[in-house]
Amino acid sequence: MPYVVAQPCINCKHTDCVEVCPVDCFYEGPNFLAIHPDECIDCNACVPVCPVEAIYADDELPEEWSHYTEWNAYLANQWQALGYNITEKKPALPEAEAWASPPQSETKSEEDILTWEGAE
Ligand code: SF4
Ligand code: SF4
Repeated sequence: MPYVVAQPCINCKHTDCVEVCPVDCFYEGPNFLAIHPDECIDCNACVPVCPVEAIYADDELPEEWSHYTEWNAYLANQWQALGYNITEKKPALPEAEAWASPPQSETKSEEDILTWEGAE
């Protein structure tokens, strides 16, 4: 039952999640982070520190984001192969704050997540 990063993470990168993960299982794309399902130990440490409530146990994912279980597995594997394991907190994306709340948060594009060069 790995944990899964969902849609609210798009355009954030606050990366508070990365800092608390005991097994360094976050992988970084251009505007999104993914959890590697084979590495996550289900400790729940990342959930309370995420400022936009983007992380869920996979059996608690809201239905509208159920596809993120597959996406985290796919993206984490792609980004792992490219060497994009992220283990330290870094500055959030410049417009993270604006993207964190409506109306902008309602226009987050899932397509952007999948456009990392070489991730196809
Ligand atoms: S803290 Fe939450 S929204 Fe920010 S990068 Fe981590 S999972 Fe994504
Ligand atoms: S649940 Fe624990 S092991 Fe899994 S991603 Fe979050 S902090 Fe890392």
